[in-house]
Amino acid sequence: MTLQDLHTHTTFCDGKNTPEEMVRAAIEKGLVKIGFSGHCYTFFDESYCMSIPNVIQYIAEINALKEKYKGKIEIRCGVEQDYYSNFSRMGFDYIIGSVHYVKSGDVYIPIDESEETLMTAAGKYFGGDIYALCEEYFKNVGDVVAKTGADIIGHFDLISKFNEGGKLFDESHPRYVKAYTEAIDKLIPYSLPFEVNTGAISRGYRTHPYPSRAQLEYIAKCEGSVILTGDTHTAENLCYEFEKWHKVCKEIGIAIVE
Ligand SMILES: [Zn+2]
Ligand SMILES: [Zn+2]
Repeated sequence: MTLQDLHTHTTFCDGKNTPEEMVRAAIEKGLVKIGFSGHCYTFFDESYCMSIPNVIQYIAEINALKEKYKGKIEIRCGVEQDYYSNFSRMGFDYIIGSVHYVKSGDVYIPIDESEETLMTAAGKYFGGDIYALCEEYFKNVGDVVAKTGADIIGHFDLISKFNEGGKLFDESHPRYVKAYTEAIDKLIPYSLPFEVNTGAISRGYRTHPYPSRAQLEYIAKCEGSVILTGDTHTAENLCYEFEKWHKVCKEIGIAIVE
């Protein structure tokens, strides 16, 4: 297994470490490649993303690190492009396409902020029907490549972040299954890898990466592929539990991009 992590966040957005600290930690851990994927600018929510001047600095700094650490580790400058971002994707080596919001009228609802935000939104904008919110979410996910020009499909079922143990909804409910199946069906023709994203495990929200086991099995059945990513917000969590989930993906028989 080749150790690499292409989904990482730094102090340029909501991460804890600088890019150089991340690079040093990656070398120490024996990674052959690290990719930075700072949150793109979203005009409607500036709480977690790179500011516009920060984006320019970010690209310059990562490119400088590429030179500084040449021969020691491969460094790539990517971006995590939100579905609703209309900010330029120029200057990046690759794009992770991610859905973090659903929209109701003019309101952007962050689906990964907190359980309370999610459930309040289901009550306020979806008549208390959490599955309707999930359907809206997976509709966006199905379009995420068309919308963002992504090279990698980000955290496919982020909507389940607060649903450990089926606490908020039933992930085998026919409406939920239909919603995610349709999204996978729309994404498969692009032949792009889905992330197996361990970020919610390292941060204590979940015990399984995104996507769920059932979704991974369906992706495998459709002959899709996956790439292991950490959605890492601290240097210590680079490649979190990659060995374990690499093994699981092998058992499922899904192609792993390395
Ligand atoms: Zn994300
Ligand atoms: Zn991320």
